[in-house]
Amino acid sequence: MEEKDELRETGGEGGNAGRTNGDAGRAAGDAGQTNGNETDDQEYEKICYMCRRPESRAGKMIVMPGNMCLCHDCMQKAFNSVMGSGMDLSKVDLSQISGMPYMNMNFSNTEDMPEMRISKKQQVKKKKEKKGPDFELKDIPAPHVIKRRLDEYVVGQDQAKKAISVAVYNHYKRVYAESLKAAKGQNQQDGDDDVSIEKSNILMVGPTGSGKTYLVKMLAKLLDVPLAIADATSLTEAGYIGDDIESVVSKLLAAAGNDVEKAEHGIIFIDEIDKIAKKKETNTRDVSGESVQQELLKLLEGSKVEVPVGSNQKNALTPMTTVNTDNILFICGGAFPDLENIIRERLTKTTSMGFGADLKDKYGQNANLLSHVTNADLRAFGMIPEFLGRLPMVVTLEKLTVDLLVKILKEPKNAILKQYIKLLAMDEVKLVFEDEALEWIAGEAIKRETGARALRAILEEYMLDIMYEIPKDPNIGAVVITRPYLERSGGPLIQMRG
Ligand code: ADP
Repeated sequence: MEEKDELRETGGEGGNAGRTNGDAGRAAGDAGQTNGNETDDQEYEKICYMCRRPESRAGKMIVMPGNMCLCHDCMQKAFNSVMGSGMDLSKVDLSQISGMPYMNMNFSNTEDMPEMRISKKQQVKKKKEKKGPDFELKDIPAPHVIKRRLDEYVVGQDQAKKAISVAVYNHYKRVYAESLKAAKGQNQQDGDDDVSIEKSNILMVGPTGSGKTYLVKMLAKLLDVPLAIADATSLTEAGYIGDDIESVVSKLLAAAGNDVEKAEHGIIFIDEIDKIAKKKETNTRDVSGESVQQELLKLLEGSKVEVPVGSNQKNALTPMTTVNTDNILFICGGAFPDLENIIRERLTKTTSMGFGADLKDKYGQNANLLSHVTNADLRAFGMIPEFLGRLPMVVTLEKLTVDLLVKILKEPKNAILKQYIKLLAMDEVKLVFEDEALEWIAGEAIKRETGARALRAILEEYMLDIMYEIPKDPNIGAVVITRPYLERSGGPLIQMRG
């Protein structure tokens, strides 16, 4: 079979499905700016200044001086209340009304009026008329291509990378098939193609600092689709203090530059998902645990949700738009502390009965117990079955070992060591790390129990003096970081030029 092409430099599937982070930044930068750029006006929907509904919902807008838009309903309401008050407009000398600048309809000097436009951050892009999927099937990178690209950045975690590559490939094939179906106006019972591919969101389980977030970030980058990273701990049931569930979709919309179509093909990563486990002993309503899981169900499954534009919270002044989450890939990640104990307990219970009884202690020191996780374990942890049902793909990440941590230091495209080497190379100084020194750093990171996250902190600690002292002496040509230097029992090796 012919191999799928390498990803195009500008991105694979998402070549059309959306440019992402750059756009997000730009959109944020534009926030609040009001310029009269005509192309912008054509690209974005007008929003009623009173009711904040976009043109697609409220109908054609009446554009007033100062670029203030009003929908017909609000205009009518304004007239009704004026007429209802018994005011006889024919007797009003509009030029005499002072203190109400916008009621003075003397439009002779409109340039002096301040702009009354809604900020760009709160405007949504107009929908284009759809004739089919936004991308071609051949644009979706094959799983091995996705994995190969992930390998350049993410060290180890082979099983997770493989599973995610396949899941993402299938997800976008599904998106393609659904868009094709929608374009043809085909319903599900129709003719020969009655197979509809179900949505398959992903649950990532792995210790802190093992690369969950990093993997998703790299994935979105190489697919060139918008990505939103949300934290489950900030979510609460609607009506309680905290962010509403829809705020995660608002974030994605912002990352897609308020382009609903682009956002609908994006990825939402919900981190710390273990923190919304059902609380075990509670007499009060579990507003940040089980209720959040319940409310997330409809998002994960795929539904049309009303989301505030340019804000995390709904209120009367925030414009709303509808986003269909059907084609959004949800990835939930969490460290699930104590899950290992639950798995160990289950495994030892089954092996302590019957022929496997002698294997009872087999799982005691097993470093990779998480890979044995089942739905029952996750339920015992506090995740509700309906929630787990919507995350059919469970991917586990391993705890990082010394070897992997050393590789993380040296090998990825933007490895930390490469960054330091580049910095000193600018001073024409060669920086070398001895292998034993790297092993010491990795060992130290393991002690801190925050995975690869500890590596940078440790390096910063020890490199500070080097980065301070070396530029002082222009005769220094090379520095070798040795293990004794890190153990504070010696110094680095310094070599002079020439
Ligand atoms: P978590 O699993 O807690 O989400 P992160 O993905 O945020 O951990 O990892 C923190 C940092 O550690 C990342 O930004 C990345 O630089 C580094 N890192 C973690 N795991 C890996 C890995 N497997 N390969 C390369 N770098 C990694």
